[in-house]
Amino acid sequence: MQEISFYDFHVHVGERIAGYVLRDGFADLARIPGLKGVGVFVTEEPGYSLKEKLQDMRKDALQSFPGEILWHLTPVQTEVGELIPLLSEDTDLKFYTTYKDAGLYRSYKELERWMQELSDLKPRMLVHCEDNETIETYSAKVPFHKPHDHCLRHPELAENIAVEKLLDLAVMHNYPVHIVHVSSPRSAQLIHQAKHHNPYITCETAPHYLLLNEDRLKGENAHRWICSPPLRSEKSRGELLELLQDGYFDIIATDHCAFTMQDKDRYKDEPQKVPCGIAGIGTMRQSLIDGLVQTGKISLDYLTRLIHDNPAIMIRSNR
Ligand SMILES: [Zn+2]
Repeated sequence: MQEISFYDFHVHVGERIAGYVLRDGFADLARIPGLKGVGVFVTEEPGYSLKEKLQDMRKDALQSFPGEILWHLTPVQTEVGELIPLLSEDTDLKFYTTYKDAGLYRSYKELERWMQELSDLKPRMLVHCEDNETIETYSAKVPFHKPHDHCLRHPELAENIAVEKLLDLAVMHNYPVHIVHVSSPRSAQLIHQAKHHNPYITCETAPHYLLLNEDRLKGENAHRWICSPPLRSEKSRGELLELLQDGYFDIIATDHCAFTMQDKDRYKDEPQKVPCGIAGIGTMRQSLIDGLVQTGKISLDYLTRLIHDNPAIMIRSNR
């Protein structure tokens, strides 16, 4: 099979997340065969302004990664006025509808306010859609004793509710929104419908939602597979793949968020403390070729559109 080069629109490298230094940096990206470009997150930290951090990460990347980069900025303290000078062709925005403890949570009202205040420039807004209230309700019912409890605490319903609310805002304000790591078939259908009303809505799913299911959270070292949204049922995985075949997704991106094995294993018996995220970019291309193309689920041409052509266009523009 011919080698295709690829892009990954959703990569966490070279920064700290929830107090952990991520395992991978830009030099690690440079070693991945065929990787042409990435979308990288810059999350504002207390006492470290978004502007400064973006400058430092740009410098870091320039020295070690020759590919193209789009920077996804997450302001925490920074307000619209200070943010506008940071917006350019190679920066867009990322918000979260959950993660209150990490200080990342934004209410739907706040997201709407950002859309209104940025209505002239309209930089693309990436949104992690899991409804915080729903997660809190389900988490109160299911204590986090085993890794698989994560699936019950973060149900598909939470994703569907957040996606629906966000889509309403995107349509109302004709705002370009990109919904990250869609794992629920119902959410993918809602997004597909909303695209008829706002052509600037896009979405991604990740290889792990197409190739793996919640059984990974039951076996040995199950805690290593904790990520959000969690791996879903086999039924949902199958439906998501059918929707992929039907053209519901603009791109496939990994949400690569690798921690060192030591960090991931430290609290293996206390799953609530395990840092949330899994690796993906190193195996992305081959796992999709093996799992989807070689098995006849999709053509190599179609995979090329999903991991090369479409993400290349999105990485080169912030709208
Ligand atoms: Zn992510």
